Amino acid sequence: ESSTYDDTENVDDKLFDGLIASGFDEASCISKLESHRYRRKASPSHKPSPFLISKLRNYEKIHRKCGPHSRAYNKSMAKIVNSKNHGDSKCKYIVWTPSNGLGNQMISMVATFLYALLTDRVLLVRFGSDMDDLFCEPFLNSTWLLPKDSPFWYENNGETYQTLLERDKANNNSKEDFDLPSVLFINLQHTSNDPEKFFHCDHSQDLLRKVPLLVLQSDQYFVPSLFITPSFNLKITNMFPEKDTVFHHLARYLFHPSNEAWGLISRFYDAYLAKADEKIGIQVRVFSPSTTPHQAIMDLLLSCTISNKVLPQTVGVHNSSMAYSTTTYTRKNHTLKAVIVASLHPYYADNLRAMYLKNPTINGEVVGVYQPSHEEQQKFKDNMQNMKAWSEMYLLSLSDVLVTTSLSTFGYVAQGLGGLKPWQLFKLVSNGTYFPPCVRDFSMEPCLHVPPKHHCNGTLIQDFLSSFHHVGKCKDYPHGVKLF
Ligand code: GDP
Repeated sequence: ESSTYDDTENVDDKLFDGLIASGFDEASCISKLESHRYRRKASPSHKPSPFLISKLRNYEKIHRKCGPHSRAYNKSMAKIVNSKNHGDSKCKYIVWTPSNGLGNQMISMVATFLYALLTDRVLLVRFGSDMDDLFCEPFLNSTWLLPKDSPFWYENNGETYQTLLERDKANNNSKEDFDLPSVLFINLQHTSNDPEKFFHCDHSQDLLRKVPLLVLQSDQYFVPSLFITPSFNLKITNMFPEKDTVFHHLARYLFHPSNEAWGLISRFYDAYLAKADEKIGIQVRVFSPSTTPHQAIMDLLLSCTISNKVLPQTVGVHNSSMAYSTTTYTRKNHTLKAVIVASLHPYYADNLRAMYLKNPTINGEVVGVYQPSHEEQQKFKDNMQNMKAWSEMYLLSLSDVLVTTSLSTFGYVAQGLGGLKPWQLFKLVSNGTYFPPCVRDFSMEPCLHVPPKHHCNGTLIQDFLSSFHHVGKCKDYPHGVKLF
């Protein structure tokens, strides 16, 4: 029941089983208190571990001490900006910078936050105006926004991680006479033909540990890289006894819809989803709209959802362009299914809705189909589209059953937040058919599309699965890996 608010509700429940610290200004972030009423009851096995909770509380202390506008911040930044690295900065930072769409950005922020937790760095985010007012401040009594007057908004010409590695190699990896900068730019972007980055190696991490400020750009979920880094492995395992909950917990910790986003989410939910017996989320991402006809994807979607009993079959042929059914029927059951469709295109929801209005289902279930927006095109750096995208990812995460599109990070955010293992639709790029139309994911974690190719000694990783436990090949992208 989501429409009544009961103040006697369990405080632990409200604060995400201890994941969220109490004491925040409630009016500034209504979703933190209200969201648990919209979520499916989390299974007990997805409770955050006591170790994770203590790491987070400890992180909040460091962030409060070293975060923007504090004395330690001003002192540390002055040193970092003005001097060479004397290794004496009290506070260490990692500045996250954006690239690509919102889903990509959110998965890389989670990875960067885990890295900050592992290395005792303070996470600051360089949000442009397109990110205005999407999320609440995650860290108690501080801000994660890189102040607008910081030189790290603009400065991009310091030393890079790549040149550091080269210098280190030329220096025969010897630690003597090796000058480390106070600021380093790390690019962990999606590329398949770059030289190996060795970011997953202790030797690299030993170097990075001594650099007080890192500026990181990535559109990837590089958590599996951190997981296979020997010096991080045990900590991650202790924080996340269930390996496939890293994104689930950290995203729920970091990303709370702002009051504006929460308005969009809760009003949509209350109007269209709250009364349903079952909520089904469908995300249709069309990667090559010019070469893939909508009808081909629609056929794939119907074949996936109906053969896997995600959606009920209608009486008569089940394709989307059919005549009105003349079958008379009596309702055998009163199950109401609400389908929320997220897509840039109206085609899929329109067709599904028409199909279920024109024809009865064979089991008598009633299906309502709703789509919050159809933006037609991906726009970069657009605040309004980000607001819609974020609220749709969140709404999808509230479903009981989820269907996503292979390779879409938009879908990864929904599945991870919701703790769902989705059906992943095959990513069609032409007018073809594919079988099976979708597969069930084995883990709710996002996929790392470009994993390291080499062991730290430079030899090729022949087989990820036998080299590292709890890391599997992604079903939606066989080159990628994910935790399970
Ligand atoms: P990916 O490209 O599918 O991995 O996901 P991203 O989120 O990184 O980039 C896609 C961007 O396109 C989103 O951030 C939105 O701006 C837009 N977009 C794609 N699909 C949708 C959708 O279903 N709804 C809305 N509102 N925006 C979408």
